[in-house]
Amino acid sequence: MTENIRINNPNVKYTDTHIKAQYLSLSHTHTHTHTHTIGWGGNNGTTVTAAVLANRLGLTWRTKTGEQKANYYGSLFQSSTVCLGPGPDGKEVNIPFRDLLPMVHPNDIVFDGWDISSMDLGSAMERAEVLDWSLQEKLRPHMSCLRPRASIYIPEFIAANQAGRADNILKGTMAEQVEQIRADIQDFRHSSGVEKVIVLWTANTERFCDLTAGVNDTAKNLLAAIQSGGEVSPSTLFAVASILEGCAYINGSPQNTFVPGAIELAVERNVFIAGDDFKSGQTKIKSVLVDFLISAGIKPTSIVSYNHLGNNDGMNLSAPQQFRSKEISKSNVVDDMVNSNPILYHNGEKPDHCVVIKYVPYVGDSKRAMDEYTSEIMMGGTNTIAMHNTCEDSLLASPIILDLVLLTELCQRVCVRPQGSETFQSFHSVLAILSFMCKAPLVPPGAPLVNAYFRQRACIENIMRACLGLPPQNHMHLEHKLQ
Ligand code: NAD
Repeated sequence: MTENIRINNPNVKYTDTHIKAQYLSLSHTHTHTHTHTIGWGGNNGTTVTAAVLANRLGLTWRTKTGEQKANYYGSLFQSSTVCLGPGPDGKEVNIPFRDLLPMVHPNDIVFDGWDISSMDLGSAMERAEVLDWSLQEKLRPHMSCLRPRASIYIPEFIAANQAGRADNILKGTMAEQVEQIRADIQDFRHSSGVEKVIVLWTANTERFCDLTAGVNDTAKNLLAAIQSGGEVSPSTLFAVASILEGCAYINGSPQNTFVPGAIELAVERNVFIAGDDFKSGQTKIKSVLVDFLISAGIKPTSIVSYNHLGNNDGMNLSAPQQFRSKEISKSNVVDDMVNSNPILYHNGEKPDHCVVIKYVPYVGDSKRAMDEYTSEIMMGGTNTIAMHNTCEDSLLASPIILDLVLLTELCQRVCVRPQGSETFQSFHSVLAILSFMCKAPLVPPGAPLVNAYFRQRACIENIMRACLGLPPQNHMHLEHKLQ
């Protein structure tokens, strides 16, 4: 991993393997990372794989408006910048976010994965209808040789309308299937020679799992339920297999994969878990807009979010139980902002918040999100913002998938020494720093849940700055405000 900036500060020491700041230490030894994607043959799975290949190969292709070059727009690390502070000439020095600390480059990620559909990735990319045709033609020879491994399929967890593509499924008991997933991870680790494997769920949204004492409430009970064949969802089975293999597990869908027993298992084994549900389109806007309104002293009173989409995700979400998972994930995203302002909201008061999702095949992956934000302004006035957002869902989600993987890998190298302590410790297994990329962030028990976009971004930036002994970014610019 290359080091792109070096800080000249007595509080920071550089060694061959580490950057040691006053209370944070970062190992910068080279790691070769690999992402195992569950739902590899889906729109996100094929799009993220294709995007990395196209960038690695430096592909260009013709569109009706001219030549297009592969890029990583939409990735926090690859395509946004951070300000280090004023340079010698007083002007701000902005550097790519990815250069702040030594990080894995997405071009170096090796993909593998599982899908209940056996289609090769070249054909699955065509089925997804996301990328320009001329790009697909260039990528097909590289994608067609990739085939998803057989996966765990328990029909009752996803919509019945998905049954038609389930032709690549594992047989045997639940326990045997978990063993097979573990064997797949080991097989890849050995055959590819990668140092780290990170497993990410971008398969269909499942229904919520019943939380039952004696089944999924503790790690021990969950492992026993897998042996006896209790109510355990495929996504939780994958999480358990990954944790037992010591691989970080990220959940990109809304369901409650991380039942209490799975969280306990991750903590016991010191393995990172993160989720839930990629924050890519409508919810990302919501976490910006509501943050802006409430922090400006304006009182949102009604938020109505309407979506229609026509991809396979939309078809799956047209079933009531799977829609319910998405509805829950989308519904709590303004709570922290509302609770932060008792001047506007008293006694548990909240804005009305309604989420509608409809399946309209014609629009394909190009999801439409229409939102209406009604707010109370001064002296009983009303302000209404109506918004139409054409999302291109998988092209928004793919760079987020990469950011999730890269940040997880980085966090595996960071140690923190709490004030007054002699020893360094790693982050909590529930990796809350990934909240920025998630609609319904999972945080350690008792930790504050932050959805507000700029607070989440500042959290990542400031933790990374601290690894270099730099103070948190505070935007005071005092030097420009004095006489
Ligand atoms: P998709 O339907 O195109 O892909 C899902 C894939 O998962 C399919 O190929 C399906 O065959 C496979 N699958 C289903 N169950 C499986 C199992 N048990 N094991 C392995 N594979 C399985 O959907 P998508 O558009 O790629 O979205 C994937 C997930 O990401 C969805 O749950 C969606 O809600 C979530 N998500 C997407 C976005 C976004 O695209 N912008 C944002 C947030 C969340």
